[in-house]
Amino acid sequence: MSKIDASALDPAKTVVVATGNAHKVVEIEAILGPIMPGARFVALGELGEFPDPVEDGQTFTDNALIKARAALAETGLTCAVADDSGLCVDALGGAPGIYSARWAGVHGADDANNDKLLRELADVPEGKRGAHFHSSVVLVRRAGAASADPAATENVLVGEGDVFGRIGFERRGNNGFGYDPLFLVDDFPGRTMAELSLEEKNTVSHRFHALEALAAQLR
Ligand code: IMP
Repeated sequence: MSKIDASALDPAKTVVVATGNAHKVVEIEAILGPIMPGARFVALGELGEFPDPVEDGQTFTDNALIKARAALAETGLTCAVADDSGLCVDALGGAPGIYSARWAGVHGADDANNDKLLRELADVPEGKRGAHFHSSVVLVRRAGAASADPAATENVLVGEGDVFGRIGFERRGNNGFGYDPLFLVDDFPGRTMAELSLEEKNTVSHRFHALEALAAQLR
C-alpha cells in the first residue's frame, strides 16, 4: 500500500480507516464522504506499518471498536472508522461469527475456511442452510488528545447491517473473497456472492447496509 506523509494531513479533517484494504476505504468514502464534507479518508496502512491489535471482543462491534481505538492511539488522529464482519450460519448456531477469518486455524485462510464450512454442513439439507453476513461499522471521534480514559472523551456511532442467503453445496464464482463462493445471495436468486460484480455486491452487502445505517445517524 502506498504511503502518505502524515505531517501533510490536516488532523481536523482526516478520518483514519482502520484497515489495510484500499477497497474498503473506497467503499466507506463513497457512502460517508458526501455527508462529511471536507473529510479526507486515509487507510491506516497508508500512514505506516502498525501491528494488528488483538481482536478479543465478544461481538463484531467490540472488535470494530478495538480496531478504531488502536488506529487513534497509533496515529494521534481524532477520528477513525473501523469495521468488523463475518459469516453466521443458522445450522451452526451462528458460527463462525466473529471467528470467521481464522475459523480453520490460520487468519485469512479462505480456502481452508470454505472446506471446513462444506464439511460441517455435509449432512444439512437444502432447506436448513440459511446464513447471513453481518457487519458492524463504527465511527469514533475524540474531543482531544487521548486521556487516561479515552472513552470519557469519545463520541461513538455504530451502524450494523446484514445480507441474507444460504450456503451452497459447492463453490461457484471467482469474484470477492472469504466465503463468497459458497454464499447464495437472496437478493440475486441462483447466484453466489462470488458470481456478482463488485458493483452488484456493493448494493446489497452487509457492509453497505451497515454504512447506510451509520450514515443515517450523521445526516
Ligand atoms: P473482516 O471484517 O474483513 O476482518 O472479515 C472477517 C472475515 O469474515 C473475513 O476474513 C471473511 O472470512 C469473512 N467475511 C467478511 N465479509 C465478507 C464478505 O463480504 N464476503 C466473504 N467473506 C466475508
